[in-house]
Amino acid sequence: MFNSITLYVTSECQLECRLCAARAWAEAAGPYQMSLEELQEFIGVCQASRYHFVEVKLTVREPLLWKNLGPGCRMLAESGICDHLALLSNAWAFTPAREAEIVEALRPVDQLWVSQYQGNEHRVAAMVARLPRTKILGVGLHARQPRGPVPNSLPADCSCRGFGLFRSMVTLCPAIPNLYATLGRDSSLYPSYCKPLKVGCMDNFDVAARHLQEHCQHCLGNVLVMRAMPLEPTRVPGPSANPEML
Ligand code: SF4
Ligand code: SF4
Repeated sequence: MFNSITLYVTSECQLECRLCAARAWAEAAGPYQMSLEELQEFIGVCQASRYHFVEVKLTVREPLLWKNLGPGCRMLAESGICDHLALLSNAWAFTPAREAEIVEALRPVDQLWVSQYQGNEHRVAAMVARLPRTKILGVGLHARQPRGPVPNSLPADCSCRGFGLFRSMVTLCPAIPNLYATLGRDSSLYPSYCKPLKVGCMDNFDVAARHLQEHCQHCLGNVLVMRAMPLEPTRVPGPSANPEML
């Protein structure tokens, strides 16, 4: 039994927060939507490997813009590979035009989280009203990605106890796809942290060493790094130029 895995389901987001923690990954990935075939491959590997997760998380980047949200959530819930299905959103897509569709799509999701910034309060309130199980994250401050390793930040003080999945690559922790994009690293050169998705691929991860990795010195999920960085209030700058995503 594993604690959790975070699925990178889309690189799209309506917003361009200046301090977006997933920006480097989104720029490197280009336009990306996880296909149902990719999702089925992941589910099949987990079933064949007898992998089970307490939680599968849909977060990166804005999951309400994932084109396969409804069928994808259903497939995950019916697969039996997890106890809980969680989703973290900026709530911006929860418009009157999409409300009914999103409520239906999120039926299998039992843990809903929204980030509240300065500027998205009305969409967050609408989501909480229609989906009362939605919890508001107290995200009011962001920090810049550090330019270099932050000294004395190992072992990392972070709550990460899960894996990540991006484009059929499983990673030792969910921050790695974005961190590697930020650092310009080729994940295939780091087989201890990134493995191609296949039966048994997660058996040999050194989970105990997760918080000791050199890249944790660059990670904003590491409280010791976060404390060393200047914090700025996070403001939703308004929708991007692409009205189709609203
Ligand atoms: S809402 Fe989140 S994913 Fe989108 S740009 Fe802002 S920080 Fe990044
Ligand atoms: S501090 Fe290290 S283990 Fe924790 S999320 Fe960041 S990279 Fe992953």
